[in-house]
Amino acid sequence: MPSSPPTFRRSRAAAPSSKSKLQKIAATGVGWLQANLSLTPFNSIVDPNPWGSSGDVRLIPDLNARFRTALTGSPTPFDMVAGNIVELDGSPWVGCTRTMLSDALAELKAATGLSVIAAFEHEFHIEGDFGPAHSMSLAALRRADPFAANLIAALAEAGVAPEVVIAEFGTDQFEVTCEPADALAAADRAVAIREITREVARCAGWRASFAPKIAPDAVGNGVHIHFSFVDEAGKPATYDPAQPGGLSSRTASFCAGVLRHLPAITAMTAASVSSYYRLKPHSWSSSYTWLADRDREASLRICPTVTIGGRDPARQYNIEYRAADATGNPYLSLAAIVRAGLEGLKAKLPAPPLVTGDPTQMSAAERKKLGLVRLPETLPAALDALVADKTVTGWFAPVFVETFVGLKRHETERLAGLDPVAVCDLYRTLY
Ligand code: GLU
Ligand code: MG
Repeated sequence: MPSSPPTFRRSRAAAPSSKSKLQKIAATGVGWLQANLSLTPFNSIVDPNPWGSSGDVRLIPDLNARFRTALTGSPTPFDMVAGNIVELDGSPWVGCTRTMLSDALAELKAATGLSVIAAFEHEFHIEGDFGPAHSMSLAALRRADPFAANLIAALAEAGVAPEVVIAEFGTDQFEVTCEPADALAAADRAVAIREITREVARCAGWRASFAPKIAPDAVGNGVHIHFSFVDEAGKPATYDPAQPGGLSSRTASFCAGVLRHLPAITAMTAASVSSYYRLKPHSWSSSYTWLADRDREASLRICPTVTIGGRDPARQYNIEYRAADATGNPYLSLAAIVRAGLEGLKAKLPAPPLVTGDPTQMSAAERKKLGLVRLPETLPAALDALVADKTVTGWFAPVFVETFVGLKRHETERLAGLDPVAVCDLYRTLY
């Protein structure tokens, strides 16, 4: 990777002292403030908010969650550490979404012995100075060369374990996937992937956008959240070949819980006004509370397993939550999915039906029989569904729910009067 000599010398010289400084800082963290939970995407803070102008918390880095690479093309290395927000005495802060995810995972494990393995698959658009190319073609990838190679190298060096970067279906749309990991690490990786992708694009003079829709008629950018389970011995616990679709009974109850609470958690996993232009039938995104075997219209898709050469499906078998995008906080999104699944496990909910066919072509009675409920069609409707589901709001501190709903209602009000083209155009520049 070419880099100018002065930059190289500077980053090498800075390395030893910056390491010890980071370790020192890690003990007590850096300052943050509660009202920042009310920060809008438009660089303003909702006023009034539950926190006001007083109060201080600390951001404590988790040094096991450090993502560092000198390969983005930027003059200094990309260096990011994920962490938790705590009170000044080190106790957890109710507004820390990383802690919410850790707590949800711990409760799932305590109740069932199951640990979650996850991977976030990201789609994004690039605005660049390259010409047109056919969807998913080699030319679509090569015209952006060396973007894909640089991105893979940077993600690999950062420890994200990338799998592929591909040219996707939409015009100038790409996708990046990474290997599954422990659920908390998977959410950390999701943050790193977004930031590193943006930086590699920026260093090429381009702009990457993870907005759910860059234009109302553009192909959507989904974040597909893959999950599976291992038991206490580390053995795969998601798959049972004897059951419909291969769902183990515990996976089936988990999925039933997710579907039951899906209309309410959509506000968290698809958290912007433009998210709801994406969650429409026939968009391969998801629009009903729907579990299906390898159907891209479903909200929960049972992913394929490959048995070439006698490979074991049990370790590959996973479910994909598709009603998510990059305007959702990855920690909060996964925490909500895990909490919803845990409700299904605690209630021992039966396996949801594996739905085939097109819900929009079914009668209302047919949809009702299959448990197909249309997901909220706007952000305000999603917030109403969230507030109405007391089980879901009960997973979080009341002040957190108040902050989240207040923030998102404010976001909606800010955009009142803008047509969908203008809304997409704005989010395109913000995510
Ligand atoms: N672009 C689709 C979405 O908005 C997903 C297409 C795919 O299955 O890769 O989620
Ligand atoms: Mg895709």
